[in-house]
Amino acid sequence: MIVIKGVAASPGIAIGKALVLENEEIVINRVEIPPDKVRAEVRRFKAALDATYRDLDAAESKVLKMLGKEHARLIDTHRLILSDPLITKDVPKRIQEERVNAEFALSEALEVVNQAFEKIQDEFFRERRHDLFDVGKRLLSHLLKQERRTISGVRHPAILVARNLLPSDTLNLKESNVLGFVTDLGGKTSHTAILAQSMEIPAVVGLSDASHRIRNGDEVILDGDQGLVIVQPSPEAVEKYEKMRQRSIKEEEALDSLRGVPTVTADGHKLRMMVNLDTIDEMKAVLSLKGDGVGLFRTEYLYLNRSSAPGEEEQARAYSAIAKALDPLPLTVRTADIGGDRLAHLGLEVPKNETNPFMGLRGIRLFLKHPELLKTQLRAVLRASAHGKVQVMIPMVSSLRELQAARRIFRQAQDELAAEGVETAKKVPFGIMVEIPSAALMLDALIEEADFVSIGTNDLIQYILAVDRINEDVAHLYDPFHPAVVRILRHIVDAVHRREKKVTVCGEMTSDPKAVPLLAGLGVDNLSVTPRMFLRVKHIVRQISMSSARAMVERALTLSDSEQIRKLVSEL
Ligand code: PEP
Ligand code: MG
Repeated sequence: MIVIKGVAASPGIAIGKALVLENEEIVINRVEIPPDKVRAEVRRFKAALDATYRDLDAAESKVLKMLGKEHARLIDTHRLILSDPLITKDVPKRIQEERVNAEFALSEALEVVNQAFEKIQDEFFRERRHDLFDVGKRLLSHLLKQERRTISGVRHPAILVARNLLPSDTLNLKESNVLGFVTDLGGKTSHTAILAQSMEIPAVVGLSDASHRIRNGDEVILDGDQGLVIVQPSPEAVEKYEKMRQRSIKEEEALDSLRGVPTVTADGHKLRMMVNLDTIDEMKAVLSLKGDGVGLFRTEYLYLNRSSAPGEEEQARAYSAIAKALDPLPLTVRTADIGGDRLAHLGLEVPKNETNPFMGLRGIRLFLKHPELLKTQLRAVLRASAHGKVQVMIPMVSSLRELQAARRIFRQAQDELAAEGVETAKKVPFGIMVEIPSAALMLDALIEEADFVSIGTNDLIQYILAVDRINEDVAHLYDPFHPAVVRILRHIVDAVHRREKKVTVCGEMTSDPKAVPLLAGLGVDNLSVTPRMFLRVKHIVRQISMSSARAMVERALTLSDSEQIRKLVSEL
């Protein structure tokens, strides 16, 4: 039995036989083309280009049907690559000038770009080179008249093992017999990981040499929650994981009855439970959970994969549709937190090579530098407020000055719309995310200008503990039970309650079943949870005794070791 630790890319457990995909090394020979055949060679290349466009059209309709508009944008990225002069101009030029075969000219052109990508520091952007190879391979296979590997052809249920999976491979998985996949390469932010989560296919990536260590037909356990792959497991391990898998299926079924049931603790204390929404595509799932509204609508998806920011009209349409669907439940629209790891492919004039992007120009900092972007978004949110209960929330606030500047722009947007005779709600609550330690410590001042507060534990923890949230090397230091975290959370809750306002937590800590009793005991009013964990967290809250949770937190605050705190919380 071998246990290999990787990056947990998509949750869930899969048990089955490994299907190891051979590395797709295509050998390309340089072939000299006689002068009178050069034009025909260029034509051959153009025909392959057309065939690749047709592939993309076919892939697009498949993706639209299976996953919706949001994911179909990936195909647009591929079309963009295909229409890049690097492909359309450089390759024919190489064929003509160097008198070489199309395959060779294409591989040379791709290599030049590959080297440029290699030098990019930003992981998200560097990972985009897989999109380029994906397109390049499609083109090559048409030139070589080879059948491309299609994973939908997997005949028996299997766990796919590969050096790397391209996003287009991943899109084929849903219709196949693939139970889950493991890859040597990849990080949490790759398109492949993002797609796996949306399609609910368990995955572990970043395993470095798993595709060499695992053989075809090996029995494999894939633990997408812990990021573990167990090869040739002992019968006991198989039994343990099989039980876990069955248990989690049964638990999911049992949780169904909690839809629409109030979130009340065992001793009668009511908590509001809301949902985090990352794209409009998740709305159906969110509505079916029958929660208390959306506590965090991450609007960044509207800004990504495009060369210019979305306009007011487009945004107003999106926000209004969601507000209407939720009405009378609240929709909390967070102004876009672009920057950090969500910057690279936005077509704004912003610094590209920040050494420390999470401490760089992101969230409200970026929007105050480009106030027209903030104004446009706030106008769109205000317009949506005519269609439902909308509130707005500002991310990454670190000082009173920033908050006041944002508020000024909010008031300007309100005044402009009023002067234009555009209908909006009379009162649109204006809140802040507390996710930077300075904001937490200054909350007594900030709270005067904010109608509500939502704690972003993902960032707050990364900044309190100085642990980059996407850096795998320090992931073990990222600790929601660290005494410093517990103390700051208490400080925030108290500061908000002193002003008789409400505090929500919307970071992933709300979706960690082990941490929920701690948040309840701290006196948090609202939890905003990922849709997938919503019912599970509700179930936990309903079992908690609030008085015991409060007493437990009082004790936790006296402890100075996170393991002791973790133990205390687990014993509740
Ligand atoms: C957070 O930081 O906890 C949060 C909810 O925001 P994001 O994860 O989008 O940075
Ligand atoms: Mg955040």
